[in-house]
Amino acid sequence: MINLDEFKIQAHKFVDWIADYYNDIDKYPVRPAIEPYRIYESLPVKPPESGEPVDKIFEEFKKIILPGMTHWQSPNFFAYFPANSSFPSLLAEMLTAALGAQCMKWETSPAATELEEAVMNWLKKMTGLPENFHGVIQDTASTSTLCALLTAREQKTGFRINDEGFKTADVFRVYCSAEAHSSVDKAVKIAGFGIKNLVRIETDKEYRLMATGLEKMIKKDIDQGKKPLCVVATLGTTSSTATDPVKEIGNICKKYDVWLHIDAAYAGSALILPEYRGLIKGIELADSFVFNPHKWLFTNFDCSAYFVKDKKALVNTFQVVPEYLKSADYGRVNDYCDWGIQLGRRFRALKLWFVIRSFGIKGLQEKLRKHIFLARYVEEKVRSDNNFELLAPVNFNLICFRFKPAKVTDIEELNELNMKLLQKINNTGKIYLSHTILKGVYTLRMVTGQTNTEQMHVDRAWKIIQEQAASLKF
Ligand SMILES: *Cc1c(COP(=O)(O)O)cnc(C)c1O
Repeated sequence: MINLDEFKIQAHKFVDWIADYYNDIDKYPVRPAIEPYRIYESLPVKPPESGEPVDKIFEEFKKIILPGMTHWQSPNFFAYFPANSSFPSLLAEMLTAALGAQCMKWETSPAATELEEAVMNWLKKMTGLPENFHGVIQDTASTSTLCALLTAREQKTGFRINDEGFKTADVFRVYCSAEAHSSVDKAVKIAGFGIKNLVRIETDKEYRLMATGLEKMIKKDIDQGKKPLCVVATLGTTSSTATDPVKEIGNICKKYDVWLHIDAAYAGSALILPEYRGLIKGIELADSFVFNPHKWLFTNFDCSAYFVKDKKALVNTFQVVPEYLKSADYGRVNDYCDWGIQLGRRFRALKLWFVIRSFGIKGLQEKLRKHIFLARYVEEKVRSDNNFELLAPVNFNLICFRFKPAKVTDIEELNELNMKLLQKINNTGKIYLSHTILKGVYTLRMVTGQTNTEQMHVDRAWKIIQEQAASLKF
């Protein structure tokens, strides 16, 4: 056990270590070279009977745990989408941990609830979302999308499924593009619609949902007695950051009385840039919207901003008030436990408040513009190297490309080659990229979006990619 005096000493040591870690972060292998279960096997099977000194635990953190970590905050992290932190966010997380508050209801932490409402309103103003949307912080976009589907289900059935469960005749259909995130599949399964009722609509050559295909499917389903319930449009798909046409889709949803949810998990942050606002033309037709400040807005995981137009429907879908949760302020304040799945909630608004205030809108915009600039810079490098090929438009800061030497033309052979290349690149430990498949083509993904990524990191990364490609045998 630690007493207050020792806590103070240790905490200072930890902060020093954190500062050193960030100072040296680009010296760590971004992805550890490690075999599965090495770490597990080095951990004792039994928990200690008596307490151990923090110094010893900390030493083993450095010796056993740290070498097995992937360093998401490394400026050489170009894989997936980033899960960015930043110093103001980190500091706020320290306070959150110190307060250790459980922010389920207004009464259990009034300031946490009211700050959440305030910063969600800030985000609305920053991104240009409609004033009549109501915001709540969820853990992840997966949860937000599930909340959207459940609320759609209840709103469109007069809250009947919550009451009575499904009837055999209930065939609810959900639509998204072929490129939509797997969290939509998960949500459809959990919401009880059956995965067979998730309809994936074909995309155009830039991987955007084709609205004509959507309307055709909806009509066909209605003819067959099925109930079109919800369309999930994506703003910034995971594979290639394609953006579905919100307005066209919105008009179709309006026409057939279908809920429109927009999954902007990654690219939603770009809406703080006026030059990207055009992407949400028609947003007033949407019923719900999600984006993750924990991806590209420098706020520690987890922090997902979920917005819904019909707040009453949301609360009616989730609210259950047992006696022990009743309080005098009921109905006058937001009890965010009624706005989603979980009862207990972390104080997530604090880190967002710190981030927005510390960066300022201008500071955030500068960071994002820098990342977008770096992506265009890499795009140029890909275009000007005959051995490489660009595979999708660079809409934000994701570059989709592959190695394509002139003498290899067979698609399978190219896929194989790029798979090998990715392994080789990531095995260097110097940078970390990920991949996807775009219309059958094995595609390397490079995201220039880590908080501290600068041009020199990108230059170095491109050099490593070229070198590793040149060293491939084929
Ligand atoms: C990352 C991502 C998700 C999932 O986000 P979580 O917060 O991890 O659930 C969903 N949709 C898209 C488009 C994404 O890029």
